[in-house]
Amino acid sequence: MSLTRYTNAGHTIDSIRAGLFAKEFSAEEFTRQALAHAEAENPKTNAYLTFAPERALNAARSVDAKIAKGEDPGPLAGVPIAVKDVIVTRGLKTTCGSKLLANYIPPYDATAVIRLEQAGGVILGKTNCDEFAMGSSNENSAFGPVRNPVALDRVPGGSSGGSAAVVAQGTAVLSLGSDTGGSIRQPASFCGINGVTPTYGRVSRYGLTAFASSLDHIGPFARTVRDAARLLQVIAGRDEMDATSAFAPVPDYTAPNGDVRGMKIGVPREYFDGLASETGDRIMAAVDTLKKLGCEVRDIQLPHTPYAVACYYIIATAEASANLARYDGVRYTARSSKAQTLSEMYRLSRDEGFGDECKRRIMLGTYVLSHGYYDAYYLKAQKVRTLIARDFERAFEQVDAIVAPVSPFPAFKIGEKVNDPAAMYLADIYTVTGSLAGIPCMSVPCGRTPEGLPVGMQILTKHFNETAMFRIAEAYEKASTN
Ligand code: GLN
Repeated sequence: MSLTRYTNAGHTIDSIRAGLFAKEFSAEEFTRQALAHAEAENPKTNAYLTFAPERALNAARSVDAKIAKGEDPGPLAGVPIAVKDVIVTRGLKTTCGSKLLANYIPPYDATAVIRLEQAGGVILGKTNCDEFAMGSSNENSAFGPVRNPVALDRVPGGSSGGSAAVVAQGTAVLSLGSDTGGSIRQPASFCGINGVTPTYGRVSRYGLTAFASSLDHIGPFARTVRDAARLLQVIAGRDEMDATSAFAPVPDYTAPNGDVRGMKIGVPREYFDGLASETGDRIMAAVDTLKKLGCEVRDIQLPHTPYAVACYYIIATAEASANLARYDGVRYTARSSKAQTLSEMYRLSRDEGFGDECKRRIMLGTYVLSHGYYDAYYLKAQKVRTLIARDFERAFEQVDAIVAPVSPFPAFKIGEKVNDPAAMYLADIYTVTGSLAGIPCMSVPCGRTPEGLPVGMQILTKHFNETAMFRIAEAYEKASTN
């Protein structure tokens, strides 16, 4: 395995802010350097698909102008941020990792993008991902796989592989990803950084290209827990452009609060059966650390877990088959030039444009929604989804948070699993449960395997209790890096 030494600029939101205010650098200078560094390093990983130098420098200049006038430049002032290419950016190519949208330039910005730029954030570019966020390894991108910066012959995870890789590589300080069934947490664990899936509805989905609307989330990646919390702070909150965005007030996620004494942590024992020891041992060691910090650890049960993958792949593909109908060569996307008739034009445009994984999901989703099968599959899956959510409700009557694995194994070799989609689906077992329940969950780095590959620990809490999740994550981070 080629373990590479990767450049990690080592910057945080705070260190950039301090540098700006101490006049060590201007936001414009810092951005120029960040762009040059990212462009030079990118060929190693293929994590960025598009750079946005003009947009980045304009954002940086406005931060400098505010500082010069004595105004507050915002909580993300001058911070280099990358955005997953399923999140739309006005005037900036947004491909969704698909050949169909290879030249698509959106006419509007996603709400999360608007909010992070208003907070002084600097968008360096757009990141590679599995086509329409479908996948677990980033190998389903029409623009080539992303390589994991920790070990370049391995996948970075998916579908937000590019967003995880840029933060781990040090070519962005923060990034936005999207998570439908694990696409933030799993790549975060493979790349050794923090990745947060907030409560469903916590962050507006306006401008997030729909995969499975009842499961889609936007969330942050960062090297530190605090920076992830700060980015979430900026993008969270009600947005009238998304009817499913929550009215619940956004608490201060960044208030210092490291004390976890007396917090009750649930460990679902069934999640650890059959888990490779290289991963399981790291997570159990992390649970011990939490115990030493004063947490009370209890065994809990989530009895419907064995049905979660089947349930997820019915609901997600059903919704995807409806959401992907719009890519028809008329409303969006490249149009086949070979067609003689209208229906042939639809068929050929979709056939030439979509990759195999999207086609597989469109067929499966159409099937489970079809007359005669709807009740047997789709409706039943919705009932199972409720049972899974209830498992968590019951568990949270006894504990404040649950600690679990993120993935059954660490980052695997590029090409190793591409020919076995079912095996890839089964590996989503630890992440799809939280997604189906709509609860907040995050992956926190918890050491490495003997081979040097990062392992992530998942922390899950009750709806809208991101604060407890961050508190535990931060206390663990502090204890494990001291
Ligand atoms: N790996 C899961 C899938 O392929 C999750 C994807 C996601 O969260 N976007 O559907």
